[in-house]
Amino acid sequence: MTTERNEPWREALRKSMKAKERTDIPRVKMPELAPDVRSRNFEEVNRGLTAEQALQEAKRCLDCPDAPCMAGCPVEIDIPTFIKNIERGNFPEAAKTLKATSALPAVCGRVCPQETQCESQCTYLKLKKEAVAIGYLERFAADRLADNDNHNNQSNHKNNSSDIKVAVVGSGPAGLSFAGDMAKLGYTVTVFEALHEIGGVLKYGIPEFRLPNTVVDVEIEHLQHLGVKFEKNCIIGKTLSQSDLDDMGFKGIFVASGAGLPNFMHIPGENLNGVLSSNEYLTRVNLMEARKTEADTPVWLGKRVAVIGGGNTAMDSVRVARRLGAEQAIIVYRRSEEEMPARVEEVKHAKEEGIIFLNLYNPIEYIGDEQGRVKAMVLQKMTLGEPDASGRRSPVPIEGATETIEVDEVIVSVGVSPNPLIPSAFKGLEVSRKGTIVVNQDTLQTDLQTVFAGGDIVRGGATVILAMGDGRRAAAAMHKKLAANQ
Ligand SMILES: Cc1cc2nc3c(=O)[nH]c(=O)nc-3n(C[C@H](O)[C@H](O)[C@H](O)COP(=O)(O)OP(=O)(O)OC[C@H]3O[C@@H](n4cnc5c(N)ncnc54)[C@H](O)[C@@H]3O)c2cc1C
Repeated sequence: MTTERNEPWREALRKSMKAKERTDIPRVKMPELAPDVRSRNFEEVNRGLTAEQALQEAKRCLDCPDAPCMAGCPVEIDIPTFIKNIERGNFPEAAKTLKATSALPAVCGRVCPQETQCESQCTYLKLKKEAVAIGYLERFAADRLADNDNHNNQSNHKNNSSDIKVAVVGSGPAGLSFAGDMAKLGYTVTVFEALHEIGGVLKYGIPEFRLPNTVVDVEIEHLQHLGVKFEKNCIIGKTLSQSDLDDMGFKGIFVASGAGLPNFMHIPGENLNGVLSSNEYLTRVNLMEARKTEADTPVWLGKRVAVIGGGNTAMDSVRVARRLGAEQAIIVYRRSEEEMPARVEEVKHAKEEGIIFLNLYNPIEYIGDEQGRVKAMVLQKMTLGEPDASGRRSPVPIEGATETIEVDEVIVSVGVSPNPLIPSAFKGLEVSRKGTIVVNQDTLQTDLQTVFAGGDIVRGGATVILAMGDGRRAAAAMHKKLAANQ
């Protein structure tokens, strides 16, 4: 059988350029805004590859017959084919390959942790060289599609084989990915979103300097062209109940309501003014224009801002604080940099922007002034012990070693828990001790016959690409079930 991956043009390309010539090409560097410029504005930091850079980087791909990179991609993008299409200069075809399995390639090209996914499987690593920049190339091809009329032509893929209605709860990456696949299969898909913006964390969490809203909007428009309907400001479990959805004729429901409930540390002083969650801080800045002093609910523009945590959310918060004028924007993290869950690129960018890292410190108390506003924090010095359940070395307090530092704002970014509304509003759902919805691991079906679930509401806080992979798997399983019932 001739599959796309063993077509004759591939062989011709392989022969036209010897592996040695390919492996001698250095990995491309992503053009970036200079740190002193970008740390004062919200413009996108990574500027994207030029066509010349993309063509050059695409040449590095060795076109491995077993494509190990694909094993690292939860949505199974045909990576060698899209890269070869870039190498041939056929950018629309490269984008089409991406869109065949990913609803959000322009998003994933910007925020996926490729270093632990597709790029971690690249053959170059075995050669002790840098992996092919798959993420940069994905962004390049996806952005070409967005710029191109072809984008809307691609959208006319809707297969009108069925008019069965399915509902999606939540418009984050899991919900959008599910909606795209189901629309392509011909279902009538409605996405219900509690907020006034579509996109979940992509809009309310990740700031514009990493993921511009316009990029997310283009992907959403693509879904609208496929026929997906969006209902904003609609809280399932409040505005509409599960039985309302049944009465409206939805034959299947995919719950993708995410993990937007912030965790706190429950230490003295956490209720002081000026101590808030990163969830509140980022949502207000990203969705409510709170960085403007004339906004209805402006955020405090702290000068000495401490962000507690070491994940992507913490890095985003501290970099926002810097952009909003913090003279000292500080990360306080209880382990060392090696254990930080944030993407490597985010940590690098944060350092370049002058963020101060207090690693191996943990807050134990916040101290307020007479008006009840935070003015200082007491930090416990930590060391590293044995690995814990996460596989990372555990933080252990050094007895008697504390320090007090002045702060005028604290943003707590120590993880999130599942949004509790759906698990309590949908009677009969099995829910874990952590509040996640329990599903069949293969089909993502819940205990309720018509209800499937995926993304952070099932995994707890995870990643965009894992949420999207869940959306795809749930769509395939729900389709199989609905088709069997017909
Ligand atoms: C600040 C931040 C930065 C991040 N950075 C990265 C990164 O760089 N790379 C990465 O891979 N991952 C990152 N993540 C994690 C990633 O964004 C999440 O894992 C992913 O968005 C989960 O997708 P989801 O669709 O399950 O949920 P979400 O994106 O949380 O979307 C859930 C949606 O459901 C809606 N909803 C909830 N309840 C209801 C209801 N009852 N009715 C209707 N709608 C409802 C919510 O309003 C929300 O819009 C980051 C997370 C945060 C918070």
